[in-house]
Amino acid sequence: MSLLSVEDLVVRHGLLQAVRGVSFDVARGETLALVGANGAGKTTLLRAIAGAHQAASGRVTFDGADLSGVPSHERVRKGIALVPEGRRLFVQMTVEENLLLGRSADRAGDWSVERVLETFPNLKPRRHARAGHLSGGEQQATAIGRALMSNPDLLLLDEVSLGLSPLIVDRVYASLQELISSGTTIILVEQDLNRALSVSNKVICMLEGRIALAGDSMTVSRDEVTKAYFGLH
Ligand code: ATP
Repeated sequence: MSLLSVEDLVVRHGLLQAVRGVSFDVARGETLALVGANGAGKTTLLRAIAGAHQAASGRVTFDGADLSGVPSHERVRKGIALVPEGRRLFVQMTVEENLLLGRSADRAGDWSVERVLETFPNLKPRRHARAGHLSGGEQQATAIGRALMSNPDLLLLDEVSLGLSPLIVDRVYASLQELISSGTTIILVEQDLNRALSVSNKVICMLEGRIALAGDSMTVSRDEVTKAYFGLH
């Protein structure tokens, strides 16, 4: 059985249909990369899975349960954690305090402040620093760590490399690779196609709210994905 099943999902922003009938499945342990041009609907889709946007129609099923009408905080309790675009940390609070905010009383598991600091060693000396004083890479690690603190079964990552230098992006992705190896199920939005394909085992390219291409990251040709990205057939 799939961990996540999205069926014919439609999400609107007012009159605009940002997601126009999208269907796909994610099995436990898979890493799905979502790619597509700006405005293709990737963020809206992730947020709809996390419960931050209501679906106009269609269905999201997680671990066998229909999530229709289930608010975002309940979805965290069910095991879905979102790392939003732009990190959204509490800048006056310390790294540790931000991490502790990610805990969910209902979700037992191995994640702790200590384990996050082991996973992202660059955060270790910054434990008591205010989030507003961190570098971009440290902020991103804190945002991912905060999501992990809820011991999620499904981690949704929205453009984690945005605004980071290539070296720091490499570090963030090295840590993600560890999470993937440990079996965490991940959906990630990534602008860098090479990176998206190398880290994932499935890829979906969105175009104007629809799936233009879905394939296996290992076997899909980069050319095909690029064509789908620009809507060339
Ligand atoms: P990006 O890479 O720029 O984040 P995206 O693929 O994630 O792009 P979305 O952010 O999901 O795309 O946007 C899809 C469409 O919905 C775009 O046309 C965007 O302008 C519109 N949109 C997104 N959020 C809102 C909102 N809160 N209100 C109105 N329109 C929105």
